[in-house]
Amino acid sequence: MNKKEELALNGGTPIRDSYLPYGKQCIDDEDIKAVNNVLKSDFITTGPAISQFEKEIADFVGAKYAVAFSSGTAALHAACFAAGVKDNDEVITTPMTFAASSNCILYVGGQPVFADIDPKTYNISPKSIKSLITEKTKAIITVDFTGQPAEYDEIISLAKKYGLIIIDDAAHALGATYKDRRIGSIGDMTMFSFHPVKHITTGEGGIITTCNEDYYERLQLFRSHGITRDSSKLKNNQGPWYYEMQELGYNYRMTDIQAALGSNQLKKLSRFLEKRKEYAKKYTEAFSGIDAITTPYQQDECISSWHLYIVRLDTEKLKTNRLEIFKALQMENIGVNVHYIPVHLHPYYQQLGYKNGLCPNAEKIYEEIITLPLFPTMSEQDHYDVIAGVKKVISYYSGDLR
Ligand SMILES: *Cc1c(COP(=O)(O)O)cnc(C)c1O
Repeated sequence: MNKKEELALNGGTPIRDSYLPYGKQCIDDEDIKAVNNVLKSDFITTGPAISQFEKEIADFVGAKYAVAFSSGTAALHAACFAAGVKDNDEVITTPMTFAASSNCILYVGGQPVFADIDPKTYNISPKSIKSLITEKTKAIITVDFTGQPAEYDEIISLAKKYGLIIIDDAAHALGATYKDRRIGSIGDMTMFSFHPVKHITTGEGGIITTCNEDYYERLQLFRSHGITRDSSKLKNNQGPWYYEMQELGYNYRMTDIQAALGSNQLKKLSRFLEKRKEYAKKYTEAFSGIDAITTPYQQDECISSWHLYIVRLDTEKLKTNRLEIFKALQMENIGVNVHYIPVHLHPYYQQLGYKNGLCPNAEKIYEEIITLPLFPTMSEQDHYDVIAGVKKVISYYSGDLR
């Protein structure tokens, strides 16, 4: 075996010289100019760039309102507050997500209830949701995992039947569509994140879109200490200086500096989405003939925004475990990752009483998944390297070269 065929893990030459991350922001000169313009203006926070960005996002997704926050996590916290989730209310969510999707329930004193996932889509299973609804259930937090929309027809009909509020954690799904409707206009409230690995970035940042005026007002209140200056809402207006703190809120505001970056990034979103889709399609073509790999299943009538490209490994066919494959790919300089450690398996949740075995599908699939690099500014060569690296490692562990 020559040095190129030999796994880097075993002392061979890596597929590429430099490390390729799994995701990365794309900032150009226009973005920098937009930020500079705000820095030179009168407002660097709570100014016109915020309301402009909010309007642009609301228009893009087809929602009536949008409220920007300092992070996606802050936005989820606000959504739970606006939904009125409080002490001992149960909120059903998926374990196959970043911890923030469920932490926000704890922030307001609620009780996360984990529904298992569909083994094909890896999204929350409507059947599992249904089996967990009780008198105490207040809301459902869906996650459009990897950018593929959850099964909203079924979830909405459950929500209607049992009077539940749907909060969509769409951190992965800006630009995704479910049956001709954009994600952002389907749940009662939808959260998008603008963390650098997400579709567009504001450094840190998040937003809630909604069509409900009451939620809209509560979200705004929560973002800024629970304080209002709206004279029609004041209980005891003492004069022009007067404002009232009516709820316990936070300082969760986004700056205008960030919003200007977000607006400029949004102009490029359709290009970013196209590139992600193209690369995802080519991955699937390249891996479709490999027995030991399951490529991402895509639902009919949905368009994924392809935040993540996740392959599932058949570890029996590979005669090894995910850890070995992961290490081998990392050594080839392919920045693989794992999304996600099921939330209920984290020590904090275990200490709250959540047990292994609660969501068997999520737990099993977690052991077998690997996220491959996918971002719009990766080059054709980067993309080719990932395919070559995966083929090299998989064929080695399939026994062909062993
Ligand atoms: C990124 C992410 C969040 C949190 O967003 P931040 O902006 O980083 O706070 C929440 N849920 C999911 C599924 C995410 O991917």
